[in-house]
Amino acid sequence: MNRASRPARVVILGGGFGGIAVAQRLERRLRPGEGEITLISRENFSLFTPMLPEVSSGELDVRHVVTPIRSQLRHAHFVLADVRALDVDAHEVQITHTLTGRDERIGYEQLVIALGSSTSTFGLPGVAERVFALKTLEDAGILRNRLVWLLELADSTSDPALRRRYLTVVVVGGGFTGVEATGEFVELFHSVLRFYPSIDRAMVRIILIEGGPVLLPGLPPRMGSYSAANLRKRGVEIITGDGVARADDDGIVLQSGARIETATIVWSAGVAPSPTIGGSPLPRTKRGAIVVGRDFRVEGFRDIWALGDCAAIPDGAGGFYPPTAQHAIREGPVLADNIIATLRGQPTKPFSFNALGMMASLGARRAVAQLPGNHVLTGFLAWFLWRSYYLLRLPGLDRKLRVAFDWTLELLFPRDIAELRVYSREAQSSAAADAGLPPHDAELPHI
Ligand SMILES: Cc1cc2nc3c(=O)[nH]c(=O)nc-3n(C[C@H](O)[C@H](O)[C@H](O)COP(=O)(O)OP(=O)(O)OC[C@H]3O[C@@H](n4cnc5c(N)ncnc54)[C@H](O)[C@@H]3O)c2cc1C
Repeated sequence: MNRASRPARVVILGGGFGGIAVAQRLERRLRPGEGEITLISRENFSLFTPMLPEVSSGELDVRHVVTPIRSQLRHAHFVLADVRALDVDAHEVQITHTLTGRDERIGYEQLVIALGSSTSTFGLPGVAERVFALKTLEDAGILRNRLVWLLELADSTSDPALRRRYLTVVVVGGGFTGVEATGEFVELFHSVLRFYPSIDRAMVRIILIEGGPVLLPGLPPRMGSYSAANLRKRGVEIITGDGVARADDDGIVLQSGARIETATIVWSAGVAPSPTIGGSPLPRTKRGAIVVGRDFRVEGFRDIWALGDCAAIPDGAGGFYPPTAQHAIREGPVLADNIIATLRGQPTKPFSFNALGMMASLGARRAVAQLPGNHVLTGFLAWFLWRSYYLLRLPGLDRKLRVAFDWTLELLFPRDIAELRVYSREAQSSAAADAGLPPHDAELPHI
């Protein structure tokens, strides 16, 4: 069939901030018959990452910070699948359907890559296999359970060395995720220690390690110094100017040679662009980000575009836009407009955006915020701003209400210490045994 006689196939890879923003704009602006949109993502929901630290501490329920992709789209076709590879010569994407494991190739006329980033441990010895990341919903759920387990384990032993190890949590990385997670862990322990009378508050050690000289590097120094003072006041030990050298079964060793005995290392020290399209001929920076022009078109390819965390997007002043949700949601509409312009034979436009600022919540009703003009707000007002802004930004009225409800409950009740193993193999086997059934794997439906 002649291309001119049928709609252009626009395929979007990734259903996060960037991918959804592109799809929504295309849905709104494409004329009937001009293009058909397919969005492929490995989960059927988008994750609202700014609230992930609160999920890891049990303040927010896991389901409340995700929004189903289908509910955010009007007529785009959604495919629940893992993107495996890209065949640029055949104009096809190779995917594996998440639930059935079936492989398929999907053709495109315009391709948008919005696959985000993954956690990087920089190849440090022993680190990748021992740390807990805070990037996905699973990470947050696992971490929350882990923190509860630590208290159960510490309560079940009288060996002081073992108790110390269980009750020491190390957070590596003093950027906004590490700072927010640390503040949230303090709140979790503070809230639930009443249920563990054998554990004194002074026994719990939370250590935050930042390789640079201050917390929140890259933001106004007052934000870092306020955060450090606030966390210290709440009992956090902060180590700056020292990085992780390696990890082993007993804990971690810092570059200075200092050793910290711990069973729990939370890693928020590095992200790298998604490795998924690694084997394709797309140009990449040393970090692995896809090289695009200011209009998001991948260098050397007329029909491939990239945005968000997986792309290196020139800011027009010699640098690159930072990998934040704030940027990805603004990049999406401009990229979509450029695809439409291309389909209509019109010129594309460069992306330009001045960041609104950054905010980090410290828990305990405190936060730090960088406002336009590089002004800094700290304390309760910053926290109020953080909550109001992100609540407004969370997609879906039902999600907004659920989160607001979680926050209200938290004012009245301690955090939940129910230890959830619902989806684990162990829990499934014991549920099957209880029901008098042979053990079976309910994790994948095998349909
Ligand atoms: C804990 C945490 C807190 C954060 N807080 C903030 C904040 O407060 N403010 C802010 O501006 N930014 C924040 N960020 C950064 C922000 O989340 C990212 O910059 C943003 O998500 C980037 O959007 P994206 O569309 O590029 O990628 P993402 O939103 O990560 O979307 C990528 C999508 O691609 C899917 N995907 C990936 N690989 C595959 C594959 N192979 N096959 C199929 N699908 C795939 C993923 O499942 C995901 O849906 C935070 C990040 C984290 C981890």
